[in-house]
Amino acid sequence: MKRRNSIFLTTALALLLCCLAHRPFPQPRYATRSPIPPPSAQPSATVPMTKDFAVPVLMYHRICDLTPQEARSRLTFDLTVTPANFEAQVRYLKAQGFTFLTARDVEGAIRERAALPVKSVVLTMDDGYQDNFAQAFPILQKYGARATMFLVTDTVETAGHLSWGEVQAMRPQVGYGSHTVHHYDLTQLAPSQLDYELVQSKRVLEGRLGEAVPDIAYPSGAYNDQVVARTRAAGYLAGWKKGGGPATPTDEPLLLPRVRVRGCTTVARFRQMVWSGVSVQRDHTASRLARSRTRRARPEAA
Ligand SMILES: [Zn+2]
Repeated sequence: MKRRNSIFLTTALALLLCCLAHRPFPQPRYATRSPIPPPSAQPSATVPMTKDFAVPVLMYHRICDLTPQEARSRLTFDLTVTPANFEAQVRYLKAQGFTFLTARDVEGAIRERAALPVKSVVLTMDDGYQDNFAQAFPILQKYGARATMFLVTDTVETAGHLSWGEVQAMRPQVGYGSHTVHHYDLTQLAPSQLDYELVQSKRVLEGRLGEAVPDIAYPSGAYNDQVVARTRAAGYLAGWKKGGGPATPTDEPLLLPRVRVRGCTTVARFRQMVWSGVSVQRDHTASRLARSRTRRARPEAA
């Protein structure tokens, strides 16, 4: 009797250990607000992917604390997110299991019809402010978050802006795109000036970085048919504007949308922005499944 009990106990213990060893990581439950393990705790094979992606591409400018005098300027206040708020936003995205992509990842997936993680987000920063290195980069490093910065090439190495050394130091965690040479409104330029802004900024960045720079963010989001045509002729594969919700596979690559994060963006609005992609994806997937069900049902009905 005693021997039978000990055999039973040994077998039960072995089974329990075997189950524990093979227990899968918890699957992410997207579209819920419940806390889930950060992505670093999950093997990459468990990240759900989709070709029906809808990725919120967040647009930031300055990340710093303003002096009371600076904060009185509505424009400056609007352009600036405090480091504390920026960290809270990145921490939230990480805790909710979002994958941080670069603008180039999204542009590449649209062009190649590739899949992206269901819960993805892109952090972009425009204008190349020095605080992007001093304030934002340590936060990006702390949370392992990638980002894309759009640089105005003529302002690099000027007061308040990034140096080329800082630009290099943030690679490869940070990717770069053009934001033209002078940040002029491209819709107001003569054709030769327009071409210079597009071609020269690309040339300077590619020379400094030693790699292709296929992305541009239109200054102030301003574009027209001529701007888009000349941007394409200059060799860009993606043009980022402002507004328009999350980026999806059916977007025109030279008119990709971004969502702006402002100094006054509330926590509730931020959460709405970053979850918007997941709900758009669910709608796309549902309508695609409905279409394929209709197609399958037709021959039977005939
Ligand atoms: Zn700008």
